[in-house]
Amino acid sequence: AKWVYDFGDGKADGRADMKNLLGGKGANLAEMASIGLPVPPGFTLTTEVCTHFYQNDCQYPKELEQQVEKALNLVESRTGRKFGDSTNPLLVSVRSGARASMPGMMDTVLNLGLNDTTVEALAKKSGDRRFAFDSYRRFVQMYSDVVLGIEINHFEKHLERAKEKRGVKQDCELLPEDLEKLVKSYKAVVQLELGEEFPEDPKAQLWGAVGAVFNSWMNQRAKTYRSLHDIPEWWGTAVNVQAMVFGNMGNDCATGVAFTRDPSTGKNEFYGEFLVNAQGEDVVAGIRTPQELTIRARQSHGSDLPSLEEVMPNIFRELLSVRSQLETHYKDMQDIEFTIQQGKLYMLQTRNGKRTAPAALQIAVDMANEGLITKSQALLSLKPDLIDQLLHPTLDPKAKKEIIAKGLPASPGAAGGKVVFSADEAVRRCKDGEKVILVRIETSPDDIHGLHAAEGVLTTRGGMTSHAAVVARGMGRPCVAGAGSITVDYAAAKLTVGSVTVTEGQILTIDGSKGEVMVGEVPTVPPQLSGSFGTIMQWADEVRDMKEFGAEGIGLVRTEHMFFEGQRIVAMRQMILATDEADRRQALDKLLVMQREDITELFRIMDGNPVTVRLLDPPLHEFIPHTEAEMALVAKAAGVPLDRVRRRAAELQEANPMLGHRGCRLAITYPEICEMQARAIFEAAAEVGRSSKKLPVAEVMVPLVATVEELKLLKGVIEKTADAVKKEQGITFTYKIGTMIELPRAALQAGRLAEMAEFFSFGTNDWTQTTYGLSRDDAGSFLPEYKAKGIVEHDPFVSLDPDGVGELITMAVQRGRSTRPEMKMGICGEHGGDPASIEVCEKIGLDYVSCSLFRVPVARLAAAQSAL
Ligand code: PEP
Ligand code: MG
Repeated sequence: AKWVYDFGDGKADGRADMKNLLGGKGANLAEMASIGLPVPPGFTLTTEVCTHFYQNDCQYPKELEQQVEKALNLVESRTGRKFGDSTNPLLVSVRSGARASMPGMMDTVLNLGLNDTTVEALAKKSGDRRFAFDSYRRFVQMYSDVVLGIEINHFEKHLERAKEKRGVKQDCELLPEDLEKLVKSYKAVVQLELGEEFPEDPKAQLWGAVGAVFNSWMNQRAKTYRSLHDIPEWWGTAVNVQAMVFGNMGNDCATGVAFTRDPSTGKNEFYGEFLVNAQGEDVVAGIRTPQELTIRARQSHGSDLPSLEEVMPNIFRELLSVRSQLETHYKDMQDIEFTIQQGKLYMLQTRNGKRTAPAALQIAVDMANEGLITKSQALLSLKPDLIDQLLHPTLDPKAKKEIIAKGLPASPGAAGGKVVFSADEAVRRCKDGEKVILVRIETSPDDIHGLHAAEGVLTTRGGMTSHAAVVARGMGRPCVAGAGSITVDYAAAKLTVGSVTVTEGQILTIDGSKGEVMVGEVPTVPPQLSGSFGTIMQWADEVRDMKEFGAEGIGLVRTEHMFFEGQRIVAMRQMILATDEADRRQALDKLLVMQREDITELFRIMDGNPVTVRLLDPPLHEFIPHTEAEMALVAKAAGVPLDRVRRRAAELQEANPMLGHRGCRLAITYPEICEMQARAIFEAAAEVGRSSKKLPVAEVMVPLVATVEELKLLKGVIEKTADAVKKEQGITFTYKIGTMIELPRAALQAGRLAEMAEFFSFGTNDWTQTTYGLSRDDAGSFLPEYKAKGIVEHDPFVSLDPDGVGELITMAVQRGRSTRPEMKMGICGEHGGDPASIEVCEKIGLDYVSCSLFRVPVARLAAAQSAL
């Protein structure tokens, strides 16, 4: 097997698209080398070495040593230097490089190959003894820390003492002989701490560093980072070994970082900074003020330090040509690192640059207009989720944030506010003009007023289709759901996570686009729609062929969600808790009025576009009252004794409400519910039909159907009601009756259901739940583990499972269309707003996807992408 890939001298074994094997850094170093950019030669130990290492008790594959040896020889011949040589020594850096960048999480060793012999050669070659011994000193310290595990303060004591002795404050004021002595004391520390000598043999150093990098994949920092950023453990890291170049050998040396375009606005302007006579770390550390690259930037920032364009005009020109070469090659904005050693430019890294959402759109539009990419490529280059960021406030990318917990990114946008633990408190504080974040273990319809009053919602339990997630998305409130590491104590009005405690009134910020929770106020930036947004949406609409987003129709009216608030939930509860038909009809009469009003308004707004109204599907546990006060309200409204309500509520408790008495099952038991809803819909249709030019298109949808008989029975009730309304009102209207397919049995029966149903709408939330046998409400607690272990790649409630649910959909489509060839079919689960799922739907040949309003532009872009 091939474990080692080399690069340098215009050649490379690897390529940019081999990130999984070589890590991001290694893959791009290979790519840059092969397109002839000045990359210091080196080689990459693949991520498969890492996997092998962990699967085999920290043993390397047996061919590895030989392959490293060979690759090292190649670096020696490419640089004309030799590892450990006493006149012309090769020094290398050893760095980690995973598929996804994990800044600062894993270990790095620089200047490797220095020892008592090679340091003299370095001194002679550079003509700078101070530089040589300073590099040596840093190397011994870094290696001892990273590889040998000796605490840094052991060395820092000696450094302080050396400065005291010399009577200076800064490290750089030490003389070469001071540094030489320091190296000796550092090595003595190693001897004392470990009982063995610091390794002088460069090969031993190399293997030590390689092992340390692989080991650092499992250090606590890296583990935490991975769990916060959804990076699976089994990916492993690669290790890059590369010839050292020095930006700190004098004033003809420098080091810098740049973006090929402005990452915050997207403007086509070279953007970056550099430091003369410095190492990469110095730029990041921010000890010295970096200089601008261009004269233009220097002038616009009013800096009095000269730009690279001025101090090293030749290098600057070369860098400009690298910039355009990289953009032409990668067809994307790049984030680069470079070093200038004694007047020669070296490229140390390139990767697709991180950018703000507005910048991403600007860059895509500009690059298409510049002819660098096609319009299609521009559309494909944008992650549809990015659109979310444009429509919602986002965290200021420059702001510092300390993430204390991570949950599911349930509803996009960022928000901060004072923590409250109850909906009532949220409303109270909101009335006083305070901004609040509502924190609940989970939410129910009782919390709706709080969800509405709050800036954002955080729950510790529940998945992407939990109540909080679905409702927050519908309201456009940011939501982080199922942040399981947080413990909420309602009684004490506080939450704890690890060692952090947050009490009511303290400030918390959540980022619903990323699922992050932060203590304190993190500044946000308001959504901004630029001209490039319009351009992208226009290009997207030119190519997509799936229909019915937003203004093109409503794919799912969840009627139970219309009864969440105020008096409405009381009437709804009265209906659910009624013990006989008379009581139920009394409540239904109230609901009829509200329902008719809502639907009339919807038909008006939709102006002849189809509106799919789903019959009630209330999971009972979301609606049964829990507190005495709530029960009292219901008792009063119904005019029955409180005790009866209490008893009935207890009776209705279910062990598995999501699989319980919900959906069409409710209407099967109580057909008068179906009758009321049908009446509301048809009376609304009659009224709007009478007064508007365009006739309403009513589609009545029956949820959670498992058998043909269920649909048959309810279809009968609906049709009978339609006929009655037509007769009463003396007007005709058209309508369709369809069914949701969201249970495997319904999928199997799709052929027969299609005899009766005029359309199918696939409820992929319940379908996922029942196909996987995975509770929508509980899966959030263990799915992250499944992701980390690579058992599932994505949360199936977020991204439609193509092999299971997708297969069933395909089958249902075929069976349905074999009965009724032109049948309209689409999905209405939460997956309708997820780009990857939309692609699956496009492939299956669905007619439309439906999603919450705020995700419509996301869906437009995703539909265009899957049509391309
Ligand atoms: C579904 O199950 O996918 C669906 C749309 O219905 P709900 O989420 O309301 O159960
Ligand atoms: Mg459903």
